[in-house]
Amino acid sequence: MGRLAKLREDFGSKKIGFKEYYEALFKRIHIRNPKLNAYLEVFEEDCLQKAEALDQKSEKRSLEGIPIGVKDIISIQGKELNASSKILKSYKAPRSATVTERLQRDGAIFPGRCNCDEFAMGSSNENTPFGPVKNPIKLERTAGGSSGGSAAAVRADLCVASLGTDTGGSIRLPAAFCGITGLRTTYGRVSRSGVIAFASSLDQVGPFADDAMDCAYIMQSIAGRDSRDATSMNIPVPDYVAAIKSANLKGKKIGIPDEFFSMQGTQKEVAEASQTFIDAVKREGASVEKLSMPHLPYGIAVYYVVATAEAASNLARYDGIRYGHRAKDFKNLKDLIMQSRSEGFGSEVKRRIMLGTFALSSGYYDAYYSKAQLVRSKIQKEFLDAFKKVDFIFCPTCPTTAFKIGEKVNDPLAMYLLDIFTVTVNLAGLPGVSIPIGKDALGLPIGGQLIGNPFSEDQILAAAAACERLGLYESGAIEC
Ligand code: GLN
Repeated sequence: MGRLAKLREDFGSKKIGFKEYYEALFKRIHIRNPKLNAYLEVFEEDCLQKAEALDQKSEKRSLEGIPIGVKDIISIQGKELNASSKILKSYKAPRSATVTERLQRDGAIFPGRCNCDEFAMGSSNENTPFGPVKNPIKLERTAGGSSGGSAAAVRADLCVASLGTDTGGSIRLPAAFCGITGLRTTYGRVSRSGVIAFASSLDQVGPFADDAMDCAYIMQSIAGRDSRDATSMNIPVPDYVAAIKSANLKGKKIGIPDEFFSMQGTQKEVAEASQTFIDAVKREGASVEKLSMPHLPYGIAVYYVVATAEAASNLARYDGIRYGHRAKDFKNLKDLIMQSRSEGFGSEVKRRIMLGTFALSSGYYDAYYSKAQLVRSKIQKEFLDAFKKVDFIFCPTCPTTAFKIGEKVNDPLAMYLLDIFTVTVNLAGLPGVSIPIGKDALGLPIGGQLIGNPFSEDQILAAAAACERLGLYESGAIEC
């Protein structure tokens, strides 16, 4: 049982008091967070007050008293919201995002705001002026990115679940590196109102937790239409928890794309763990079918055109006038904007703004942006065609396990290539869940990914729960 489900029971049966739990939680946070840098800020007083009130009177809501970490890109009213960027230093969220509002409505408590890559751009949580997040399993290693703080906080028991955003893998990759479960939701399943935009046709919010069931509890709270986000869809929200209870793999068809499995650069142990996973699901009665999806290898190229183009446009609003950082010395209006942006943005964000502006500029738009959109629609079609034949698609989450902090940070291309198995899911607007499926020789977790039809989160979580029961991964000790 995951810690979220367990805590619901323990609070419900009064086995543990709310205040008692939160006092112990903050003790842990004070010891572990200085080593991990998972939280940029914690809300200790708020939490203890809320916990005390719950001890007086509990309303028995679905997430009553459950501690949930929130990526520093999702608004919590009155709290700082930096997107891990100097340009938003001291900016306070004027209102809560719909997702945080819904979690609070259901009784959740936020222990703190989680570190991430600046504006969610990165795969290692090193692109942040506030220092990298360390992997709780091996502190010299990255926790993955961009939602590294959200993943590390769950893994190190500094909360029992957290929220991240996934534009190209930022939930699934850190979930894989930290040995937990992370769900990227279908485009339109979860409201993005109050969430800082990176690439608007790709961004989605989703949960991190110990297992699929714990993710289901979070989904039950945050999913569904929101009138404040025009891209959120009015499609009924299934009972995620019930779907998991009846989960099994018998008769399920799982597709494995040849293009992903013949890809060079996948760490040997990741390939082996994937094969072990495939053999295990077959033993459970699932059938496995090879698929050919010839446009998948273009995913990285397409993603880094579309995502940077949208980022360049979204980030134009940070001009030193309306939000956050404003340069002190400037000669005129243009200079004010230039200085504020030069001082406020970090180097990866600047690289993306330049790439995106280039891709959108006159004379290049058709060659890059239009072409990328064309290939994107082909990738989407290949997925949707595949789901006429299979229930899910399986592949590794990331070609490698957690690497050392500093190892790839000066090689942007090597960093981008880590996203090969995740970005196509975003380009096609699909849901995907990463679960731990094994370990490498150093004991670092290996993530496997199940991808499904749009709005099939109930089914992929159920399948993930059945896969978790295969016992391929045993979560071990942490270093902090
Ligand atoms: N690693 C990818 C990038 O740098 C994905 C980021 C994300 O999902 N937010 O763009």
